[in-house]
Amino acid sequence: MTARWCTGAGATATGDRPRNEDAFLSSGPVHVVADGMGGHLAGAAASSVVVEAFRALTDLSSVQPDDTVLAVARAQEGVERLSERVGGSSGSTLTGAIAVEHDGQPWWMVINVGDSRVYAIEGGSLSQITVDHSYVQRLVDRGDITAEQAEVHPERNIVTRAIGDGIRDFDAWLVPARPGLRLVVASDGLMKALSDARIASIASLAGEVSLAAGRLVDAALDADASDNVTVVVADTLHADTDRSADPYPWRVWGVGRDEDDTTVTGRRREPV
Ligand code: MG
Repeated sequence: MTARWCTGAGATATGDRPRNEDAFLSSGPVHVVADGMGGHLAGAAASSVVVEAFRALTDLSSVQPDDTVLAVARAQEGVERLSERVGGSSGSTLTGAIAVEHDGQPWWMVINVGDSRVYAIEGGSLSQITVDHSYVQRLVDRGDITAEQAEVHPERNIVTRAIGDGIRDFDAWLVPARPGLRLVVASDGLMKALSDARIASIASLAGEVSLAAGRLVDAALDADASDNVTVVVADTLHADTDRSADPYPWRVWGVGRDEDDTTVTGRRREPV
């Protein structure tokens, strides 16, 4: 097995909720977070099915982007089977970063369905890689409201895509694995409690990954953890090539599709 160029760790808390329906897996090349929905025990079961769909990747010496695509498909099928079993609709968000090899180079493959997020932290500043699948994000995309208005919008909790909704597409980005690049993978409980600036400062200053994940969750609990809070922090330790000359901060790998079946190509976020 080749030496890993990444390391990661996660932390989770129930917050002000009767149970924790979030789940995470941070092991080897896999760093994913899932936020389950569906009520009763179905939400927790759904998020657990989603992260366990990635377990097989943790032992691979080299993960290809297609391995990630297959894991997402396993997650989708698993949640659909769960919904049939419990006789209702259960679903989950899925977001995360997988250390993959593509064209002989190390990349972070960042994936997303729903409104959990992946942030890049580099040189003390934060940029959001994923784009929420949410009602308020659509209003922002259309120019109807600003990102600041979205944060306090009464319908900010409406998610427009979830694992288990029957749609096979998902959003994905390939991010060059630059040493020093830290990724923060989080359920929406973190973003509801902390501003981007606060997340950036804690994530930059907290030291190693398990400490950083724990501090972010603790800060959310101190602020206002009205929801379950889950954070995985993953670091890029080294990479065999010099990625500073890479022309793309990140590239869109796949395409996303909205619930009204509009195919959205090239949803790209540039670092701020
Ligand atoms: Mg949540």
